Amino acid sequence: MQFGRTALRLLVPALLTLCTILPLGSLQAAGYRTANFIIEAPTEQLARRIGDAAEQYRHDLAIEWVGQPLPRWSRPCPITAQVAPALGAGGATSFVFDRGEVFNWTMTIQGSEERVLDSVLPHEITHTIFASHFRQPLPRWADEGACTTVEHPVERARQHRMLIEFLRTGRGIAFPEMFAMREYPADVLPLYSQGYSLARYLIERGGRRRYVAFVGDGLATDNWAAALGQHYGINDLGRLQTIWLDWVKHGCPAPPAAIAAALPSPQAWSPTARGQSPDPTASQHQPRPQRLATTAGRQSIYAMQAQRTQRQLPETSTADPFIIRR
Ligand SMILES: [Zn+2]
Repeated sequence: MQFGRTALRLLVPALLTLCTILPLGSLQAAGYRTANFIIEAPTEQLARRIGDAAEQYRHDLAIEWVGQPLPRWSRPCPITAQVAPALGAGGATSFVFDRGEVFNWTMTIQGSEERVLDSVLPHEITHTIFASHFRQPLPRWADEGACTTVEHPVERARQHRMLIEFLRTGRGIAFPEMFAMREYPADVLPLYSQGYSLARYLIERGGRRRYVAFVGDGLATDNWAAALGQHYGINDLGRLQTIWLDWVKHGCPAPPAAIAAALPSPQAWSPTARGQSPDPTASQHQPRPQRLATTAGRQSIYAMQAQRTQRQLPETSTADPFIIRR
């Protein structure tokens, strides 16, 4: 069975994002082609920057998440970029799964040049890495949450502030419900904030590759409690919700170093990075792209544990408790 899937990301309330999308074609003036991407952007310089950054992220983030670079795709992923200083940041990536393959990529990204390069692009590229690796849809929280962890610290801090607001106004999502969501809920923004926060909690304790292994086991067995127990030593979604909520209430403190050592030892992690329809003519030893000037200053994207910016929560009181609806 064939089905399409769109990984939608909204950095600002939906109405604002939709209102700020400019008519396609009005700004597109230049194209640029890399091994895996074809970029359309307002200027040739921007198209080149975005294309080179996309290749760099594709290489680096695949190593971060699955341990090795993706094989070259047989067909490049088109990226349509709208870039303007006041444009709301956001993106969407769509692809098709069919009989264990993934293909027909399309990606649209928009925002200021800075946000496109340091947040929207790595977020959307991570969607393609997960699609290539898992070859099936992930629970939305796990997909969007993990993709948000590679954004710039400013964007992650904003998600955290929104989470606090959602938790105080009854828009939190019960974990059993959240783990079962394969599509976006009507109230989509809490899913992003809460998914990001939980992904961050898990990744800070076990790293990105354990997170991928956990999601892979959850998908394979559809027993998320067992997968949690195997990888994080917590075998109950309700208990995880309680532990996570307590962590948020305490300002999301970094885990003690002993935590990672105490986690269950990894078993049968999948070391294989699978790319869709690998190009048989591509070299097995693709040269590592040169690190770009545009991304060299943004290594913080990969080092969230070291970038604990703006993470102090406002004072909490019993007058405005966090609420997770049932
Ligand atoms: Zn997304």
